[in-house]
Amino acid sequence: MSDLSGAPEERAGIIIVGSGFSGIGLGIRLLEEGESNFVILERAQDVGGTWRDNVYPGVACDVPSLLYSYSFRPESDWSRVFAPGGEIWRYLQTCAREGGLLPHLRFGADVERAEWDEAAREWIVRTPIGVWRAPILITAMGHLADANVPQFPGQEEFAGEVFHSAQWDPSAQIEGKRVGVVGAGASAIQIVPRMAEAASEVVVFQRSAAYVIPREDRPYTDAERRRFARVPGAIAAEREEMFWANEANFAQRRMVEGAIDQAKDLALGHLADQVADPELRAALTPDYEIGCKRVLISNEYFPSFTKPNVTLETSALSHFDGTHAVAASGEAYELDVVVLATGFEAARPPFAPRIVDGEGRSLADAWENGMRAHQSITVAGFPNLLLINGPNTGLGHNSVVFVIESQIEYVLGVLRHLRETGADRFEVTSSAEAASHEKVLGLSKGTVWIEGGCRNWYVDPITGELTVTWPDFAYAFREENGTFHPEDYVFASRQEVLA
Ligand code: NAP
Repeated sequence: MSDLSGAPEERAGIIIVGSGFSGIGLGIRLLEEGESNFVILERAQDVGGTWRDNVYPGVACDVPSLLYSYSFRPESDWSRVFAPGGEIWRYLQTCAREGGLLPHLRFGADVERAEWDEAAREWIVRTPIGVWRAPILITAMGHLADANVPQFPGQEEFAGEVFHSAQWDPSAQIEGKRVGVVGAGASAIQIVPRMAEAASEVVVFQRSAAYVIPREDRPYTDAERRRFARVPGAIAAEREEMFWANEANFAQRRMVEGAIDQAKDLALGHLADQVADPELRAALTPDYEIGCKRVLISNEYFPSFTKPNVTLETSALSHFDGTHAVAASGEAYELDVVVLATGFEAARPPFAPRIVDGEGRSLADAWENGMRAHQSITVAGFPNLLLINGPNTGLGHNSVVFVIESQIEYVLGVLRHLRETGADRFEVTSSAEAASHEKVLGLSKGTVWIEGGCRNWYVDPITGELTVTWPDFAYAFREENGTFHPEDYVFASRQEVLA
């Protein structure tokens, strides 16, 4: 930890950590509600979260942009149905600027430790650039903030470059190079077609094949954009339609028979349409139920493998040997660049050991048996702490921004209650947290993430419980977790202590 003797200290009413979709959205809504006494600590030098970090060629969102944006900051100018990542990043930058958040942002403020001081009734947050104190701490750090970067034997001596997809090296020369891509998830399927265009040779190390369905993408016309900008309710109507169309897909995740067959037909039909060679098709066919891993959307991924410069290696990268990347199958490939599209640390978040209660117990200790929270937002033993995008807030079938907005409204409900009652300490009861956990466990049963016969990042790697994804419809998340219920909490106020 940094030596902070003499470092600046700042006090605020609320400390928010993270300036991605959650932190920016929360900041905007706080200001709209007249609450301006907050800081947003951001470890990087700009806002945008995953959309700032993921700048690999081909990065885009697989939720339509009209829906993957705030309901309270509608954007009419998306270039296409599924906007490229750079546009989403600019949207967040614009929201932060126009929403009045710039004075609240502190960049380079990577939270090294956040500790609850019971006597002072405040969180003390240490970062390399200073210390912040506030009665309320709200984490808004996202599930896709910390890259899963596996280390392979022999990597130190490997002659080429190795980097993670979320740490893309803009100076990396791809043109004419021999490129390996490790993984076949959402990031890899966007990167591979771009590599296939530019590199002399591409090797994809596929540990598990992915279900891929057609990407119903197209540019928006000027007339459409004008309509979105000028016609009252036009964007809201599009969002509504997209939202409910996505909700219908939850039936697949519940493994409803007709729904799952329909989804599988679509994905396997797409593969059959795009890959004529039966051997290659078999190699690209998943061996688990559809939806167990994220269902991907692309019209370009499968055709990449029909190009002469692209090789599908159907085993994981095992190790490096000099200039070669060696697969678990034993096959060795001479490569110049290796891209690790190996995903993120979602189920065991690296921030958890750094958040500590008044007795030295960290959130990682509390989550020894996997992440859990009351209504996905508060943890017993951690007073005045709210987690946005924490346990069971991911979605496999709809826009996570809807979940984030639900949680923001919950936070506003907490703040209203504290204002109205004069309480300055709130803590969820263990029984309320346990009831939420039981509910999630019950809902998880029979979902494809648990029963689908695959290993995915939505479940805890140790307990096998579903801890990252919400196991129900998105609208049900809002019904279940979007409203603060004071009866689940114990409150205290200074007056009581002094009386
Ligand atoms: P991911 O879905 O977790 O995929 C990681 C891939 O790397 C998997 O194919 C995995 O294989 C493989 N892998 C991981 N560790 C490995 C190892 N040690 N050796 C060999 N292979 C390894 O990660 P992602 O593609 O970055 O996507 C993460 C999430 O980000 C997505 O689910 C999605 O929510 C989001 N995302 C969205 C978009 C979009 O909107 N278009 C784009 C990118 C990311 P196994 O499957 O065998 O584990």
